[in-house]
Amino acid sequence: MNIVNKPNAPVLDSFWMPFTANRQFKQAPRLLVSAEGMHYTTDDGRKVLDGTAGLWCVNAGHGRERIATSVGEQLMRLDYAPSFQMGHPIAFDLAERLAEIAPGEGDATLDRIFYTNSGSESVDTALKIALAYQRAIGQSSRTRLIGRERGYHGVGFGGISVGGIVNNRRVFSQLPGTDHLRHTHDPERNSFVKGQPEHGADLADDLERLVALHGAETIAACIVEPVAGSTGVLIPPKGYLERLREICTKHGILLIFDEVITGFGRLGTPFAADRIGVVPDLMTTAKGLTNGTVPMGAVFASRTVHDALMHGPEAAIELFHGYTYSGHPAACAAAIASLDIYQQEGLFTRAAELEDAWQTAIHGLKTKPNVIDIRTMGLVAGIELSPRPDAVGKRGYEVFLDCYQNGVMVRVTADTIALSPPLIVEPDQIEQIAATIGEALDRVG
Ligand code: PMP
Repeated sequence: MNIVNKPNAPVLDSFWMPFTANRQFKQAPRLLVSAEGMHYTTDDGRKVLDGTAGLWCVNAGHGRERIATSVGEQLMRLDYAPSFQMGHPIAFDLAERLAEIAPGEGDATLDRIFYTNSGSESVDTALKIALAYQRAIGQSSRTRLIGRERGYHGVGFGGISVGGIVNNRRVFSQLPGTDHLRHTHDPERNSFVKGQPEHGADLADDLERLVALHGAETIAACIVEPVAGSTGVLIPPKGYLERLREICTKHGILLIFDEVITGFGRLGTPFAADRIGVVPDLMTTAKGLTNGTVPMGAVFASRTVHDALMHGPEAAIELFHGYTYSGHPAACAAAIASLDIYQQEGLFTRAAELEDAWQTAIHGLKTKPNVIDIRTMGLVAGIELSPRPDAVGKRGYEVFLDCYQNGVMVRVTADTIALSPPLIVEPDQIEQIAATIGEALDRVG
C-alpha cells in the first residue's frame, strides 16, 4: 500500500505502529520529514509548530547541531563497548553530570545513576531496585508495589501493573501483588486552577489505608508521577506529595517519582522533586535526558538505596539487572550535549519565566465551547473537553486534527488536549498555540 501520492512516499504496510490506530492512520497518514527549532515540516511541505516537544521530550527544540555533532564524533571514537563488566569513560562522565543536578542532600541525594534505554525500562528498573533493596536490608516480605489510578509508567509488565490505565492493562496479565491509590483528579473541588490545586492532599492517606489493608511489611515501594502527564495532565494538590513522602518514610516504603515527563526542566526546575521540595528514594527519567534524540533513560537512586546493595563479596554482581545498551556511548554523548545546552541557555529558568504567560494564554481558552477544565503547571497544560455522548475521545481527536491542519501539533489523550512545548518557545508562539486551539474548538464544536 502506498497511498501517499507524493514522490518518494514510503510504503506503509510493514511498519506496525505503536499506540496508533494503524488502519485509520494508513488511510490518511501524517508524515513529518524534518524538524528545526520549534517546527516540524510535513511531507507536503507545511510547517507545524511543535506544541508538545515531540512526546514530551524535545525540551531544547529540534535539530540541535551540538547534539548531532557530539553523537557523530562519539560513534567514530567508540561506537559501542560491552556494558557488563566493562566500562567506557563517557558513561561515568554523564553520571557525574547527572549527580551534580540530582535532588536531595546527604545520604538521600539521588546521585547514583543506573542507565536504561527508555521510560518503561527506567520504571521496571526502579521497581526491581526497590525489591532488591528491601531484600538487602532484611525486608524480603516487602514485595508489594503500589501505583495509582490513571498513572502511566510505560509498557513493561512492571509499568502496566503499577499503572492505572485500563486499556493498557486489560489485555495483559499483571504482576501479582500490586495495588493502587486513587488518582488526584477532583473537578468537584478543583477546576480551572493555575498551578497546584488547594484540595486533595488527603488523597495521599490512601497509602495509609493500603498499609492497614495489606500490612506495611508487605509493601516495597510506591510509585507516582509528580504530574501525571499521559492521562490528562493531573497536577498534584498542594501538600499531597509531601504527605505521601511522610507516609512512605513512616512505614519503610520506598517512594519512587516517575519523572520521565517532568524531568529536565518541564516545570521550571531540573526535576519536579526540586519544584515541590519533596525528595523520593528513586527517580525515573528518560525523554528530555537526550532531548529526545537517542533513546536513553536513567534511574536516579539515593545513596542509601545504592549503598545497601553494595555489600556482600567484592567479586559478586550486586544487581542482576542491566541492558546491552545501558550507557550506550552515543546516548551518553547525546545526554551530555543536551545538558550542556540546557545549562548554557538557561532553559530550565526560561521555562519558569514563561510560566505566567503560558498559564494566562492557555487559561484564556476557558470560555471556548466544551472546555470543562484547564490545568497548568510549568510549561505543561491539560485542556479537558466534555466527551461526545456517543464516543469518548472523538472530540479531542477532531481538535488534534484541526490544529495539525492549521499548523500546530497538540497531543490528545481521551478528550484532554495535552501541551508541553519545547522550553525554547517564544511568547508569540505561545499565543499561536492558544489561538489555533481556540479556533479549532470553535470549529469542532
Ligand atoms: N513514565 C512516564 C511518566 C511517561 O510519561 C512515559 C512515556 N510517556 C513512560 C514512563 C514510558 O516511557 P517510554 O515510552 O520511553 O518507555
